[in-house]
Amino acid sequence: MLTGENNLQLLATPQNIIITTHHKPDGDALGSSLGLYHWLQAKGHHVEVVLSSDFPSFLDWMPGRDNVIIYPQEVERTTKLVESADIIFCLDYSALSRTNILEPLIREAKGQKWMVDHHLDPEDFAQLTYWDSNAAATAQLIYTFIAEVNNDCEGITADIATCLYAGIMTDTGSFRFRSTTAAVHHILAHLIDAGAKNWEIHEKVYNSSTENRLKFLGYSLLNCLEVIPEYNTALFAITKEDLAKFQVTTGDTEGLVNYALSIKGIRLAGLFIDRTELIKLSLRSIGEIPCNEICKKYFNGGGHLNASGGSSTEELEAVVERFKSILPEYKEILTK
Ligand code: 5GP
Ligand code: MN
Repeated sequence: MLTGENNLQLLATPQNIIITTHHKPDGDALGSSLGLYHWLQAKGHHVEVVLSSDFPSFLDWMPGRDNVIIYPQEVERTTKLVESADIIFCLDYSALSRTNILEPLIREAKGQKWMVDHHLDPEDFAQLTYWDSNAAATAQLIYTFIAEVNNDCEGITADIATCLYAGIMTDTGSFRFRSTTAAVHHILAHLIDAGAKNWEIHEKVYNSSTENRLKFLGYSLLNCLEVIPEYNTALFAITKEDLAKFQVTTGDTEGLVNYALSIKGIRLAGLFIDRTELIKLSLRSIGEIPCNEICKKYFNGGGHLNASGGSSTEELEAVVERFKSILPEYKEILTK
């Protein structure tokens, strides 16, 4: 699980550290990044969080989010920082391509890369790895990295606890998924003890929709949902006109796919969105239906067994048709 641990000694003296995460960060990506950011800063390091894109507005309250650097907005500064970093943390991803436009910069940087992640099939690019595909969230791994690897339970401040709690909460669907073990709940209890206001975090993340977002949800349920009962599958296909009509912004489509999965009997759910430059898709499943295999094999992506993503440069209709055409291959497990 931990490799390259000799390199941990670097943390004994102040370092220039960059924290990176995957493109279009979700709650776990931003929560784990900012949680680690606060801890490293308190240890006396010079730390910056660098993102390849903006993040959803429902995360725009996390302690430290004002200090995040968004690469496209500060190309020159970011380039210098990444090039001169001693350590580059790679959080919540284990394939460099997941950092989108930041990939070449990170790939060529001279500093050590330290990867902390829970996705399957990690690439071999890091000098230190702290990886566990059974972890519920990267935020959980940041907690154990701080508390167990560095023996610093006392170092978990209220800001760190808040960021990590939000990361675990969002990546477990509010503690619903199979990954939410007793050990995860023990960690959550400690995070609350350390100052995470659990009720307030739920409030901020889940009660922050715009009116447009809610109307978009209603519109999608009525107009964009297709159920394929013979394969226990349901999907949403969202056109760029739909997005424009409701001024859909980053994060507004988060969770939509779960409505398709919430239909009784549905075992595989898809969300296909025309993001103009490409079609982005999200798959969710229950049981042994391998979303990650489907995304990897057919849609240039990957992820977890029950939650994966991918993309395609084909037209929306063609991507949806291709998805439907592969369902017979999985008929046996879909109709079990
Ligand atoms: P989401 O559907 O929420 O975008 O992503 C679900 C899971 O699949 C996440 O764990 C995410 O990291 C992974 N994922 C999403 N998009 C991609 C992609 O394009 N490539 C790969 N390898 N993984 C993805
Ligand atoms: Mn994650």
